[in-house]
Amino acid sequence: MKTEKTTKKSDNDNKETIIVFGAHSDDFVIGAGGSIAEYVKEGKKVIAIALSFGEKSHPWLKEKIIKKTRLDETFEAGKILSCKVLFFNLREGHFYEDYQKKGIDQKLLDLLKKERPTKIFTHSQEDPHPDHKAVNNITLELYEKIEKKPEVYIYSVWNPVSFKTQYPTLYVDISKTFGTKLSSLRTFQSQKVHIVYPFVLLVFRAFVNGFKIRKRFAERFFRIK
Ligand SMILES: [Zn+2]
Repeated sequence: MKTEKTTKKSDNDNKETIIVFGAHSDDFVIGAGGSIAEYVKEGKKVIAIALSFGEKSHPWLKEKIIKKTRLDETFEAGKILSCKVLFFNLREGHFYEDYQKKGIDQKLLDLLKKERPTKIFTHSQEDPHPDHKAVNNITLELYEKIEKKPEVYIYSVWNPVSFKTQYPTLYVDISKTFGTKLSSLRTFQSQKVHIVYPFVLLVFRAFVNGFKIRKRFAERFFRIK
């Protein structure tokens, strides 16, 4: 199952395109939401890919209901950031297996060939979450198969990328879009039963990163390709 929502298609065709991969529906917002909104403001086209619904987090609800809720929330979150959202149906804990079995590898490859992104953002290989790690693998595998090579960056969800990393750093000034990121994150009502988002941590992190480039808020990424 693949669902997508397009804002305005025709006027997007000549824009520089950026693609953000996330394992779960809210990862792209937590990891890169401010930068997504910032890039869109700069006139770029951003596509966020959520590879699963995160259906395991609410065992007492019917899977169908969760999927519908997650879809609605994630499209709403994407709307706030002004990016396009694509959903795929990988089962949590079975990412890589499903990725090949359901033919999603080919779909993503076709997407990358069509969109020719200049930058790709994905999870870190150091991330302890197995689904996040799998998405890092998937991204790098796709990278090897495309001709026009984009820059590839990793982002942190809750576990920060290690400080000792040798990769070059990219700071994106999100002073003007940090509020948009937080609004976007607030759309995930269904998650709130389980996790109260540590907004304080997000604010602190954005502040520390911003300090590095003498801006109010920033998001930090590491370039791995
Ligand atoms: Zn996640």
